[in-house]
This record gives sequence, C-alpha cells and structure tokens, in this order.
Amino acid sequence: MKTEQLMIHGLTIELTRKKIKNLHLRVYAPHGQIRMTAPLHVKEKEIKDVIHSRLEWIKTQQQKFANRPVMPHLEYQTGEYHYFQGQRYLLNVIYHPAAPKVQLQDSTIHLYAREGCDAAKRQQILEAWYRQQLQILIPEMITKWQPVIKVNVADWGVKQMKTRWGTCNIRDRRIWLALELAKKPLACLEYVVVHEMTHLLERYHNDRFYGFMTTFLADWRNIRLELNQQNVNQQILEE
Ligand SMILES: [Zn+2]
Repeated sequence: MKTEQLMIHGLTIELTRKKIKNLHLRVYAPHGQIRMTAPLHVKEKEIKDVIHSRLEWIKTQQQKFANRPVMPHLEYQTGEYHYFQGQRYLLNVIYHPAAPKVQLQDSTIHLYAREGCDAAKRQQILEAWYRQQLQILIPEMITKWQPVIKVNVADWGVKQMKTRWGTCNIRDRRIWLALELAKKPLACLEYVVVHEMTHLLERYHNDRFYGFMTTFLADWRNIRLELNQQNVNQQILEE
C-alpha cells in the first residue's frame, strides 16, 4: 500500500494504491478532503480521467461540507447543551468529593466531578458514560438482529471515530461503532448496527447490499437522513 498526493484540476487528491480491482473516490468531512484508492498499476491518465468525469460531484460534496455549521467549542460546563439518544439536555456540573458519575433527570444531565476537575476531565466523564450506555444497548441489538440477518458477530466495540459511524471487519466478524452514536436517536444507532452487520453478507455498498437493508429495515433511508442531520455540537460521520 502506497499513498501519494496528486494535484489535478487544482484539487489535492490523496491517492492510495492497493491490491484492488476498481477505483474508489470519496470526499471526506470536515474539510472536503478527496481520497482515492486505486489498483496498483492503474495509469495516471486514467486517474485524471476519473477525477475529470466526477468534478461536478466532488464540488457538490465539498460544498455540502462547507455549508455545515462548525462545531462549537465545548467546555463541558453548566449551561451548555449536550445530546443523548437524540434528545437535547442541559448540562449541570456538580462538584462533589466522591467518584465521578452522570445522572439524567428530566431534560438535565447532571455531571458529578471532583472539585478542580478541568474541561478535558469533565469531557472524559461524560464520554465514559456515553460509552457505558452504548455498551448496554449494542449487545441487545446484535442479539436481536443476528437471527434476522442470519450472521454471527464474533466481537464488537465502541470507539471515537473521526470519519465513520461504524466499520465492519468481515474476516474477524467484528464491528466497531462510533461513540458519537450515543447522541443520536436509538433508531439511528440500530440502523448503523444493522448496516455493519449486513456487511457480513455483502462487503460493498451495491444493489445487493441495499436490497438486504430494505428487507431488514424498510425505513432505513429515512433513518439515515435523521442520522445525518446535524444538531449543535454533533459531529457528522459516514457509514
Ligand atoms: Zn457500509
């Protein structure tokens, strides 16, 4: 695998050559970076032709990212809004001389921390709680969907992801879900779990894959729209 930077039509393209059959082109959040993966021996002319033919699409994608609101800087202090399962909560920081904890009450998230705890530490406390919540929900969802999709997930995990809502390692039958999903409605979390599990039947986002998705979750397109709707202080990732 080899990565290089190309300038084509004034655009910077990060090109990775791999042992694959087809060219893949993607535009990434947040700045509309362009990445292409290409078969090992494809000629530069062919790469240029692909970029040329998809220029409009690239510009549209980049425009889409440019129009997204910038995430506000968060201090994890009282008065800020934070999200959990699609709901907006007011954050209330309480200092106490005991172990940190998080409690939901009506539309407030109470974050208990030790006196002198800084923003980074408060963020850690909230994220650890998000992770805990996902770690309860995800195995329930996997158990529910395994007999429907007729696959077996060997392992799963939650982690901070910069560009994806989820990933699937088909060989190891392991799925990873983005911590950010804790902020999204449960239906969105479930959609990503089903999406990643469906990759155990079909690696690519092709007609077969979307056919499966429609069989499993008839409404998946609407759920995906909801997933990709940005609220304040929520990141948008990709599947
Ligand atoms: Zn996918």
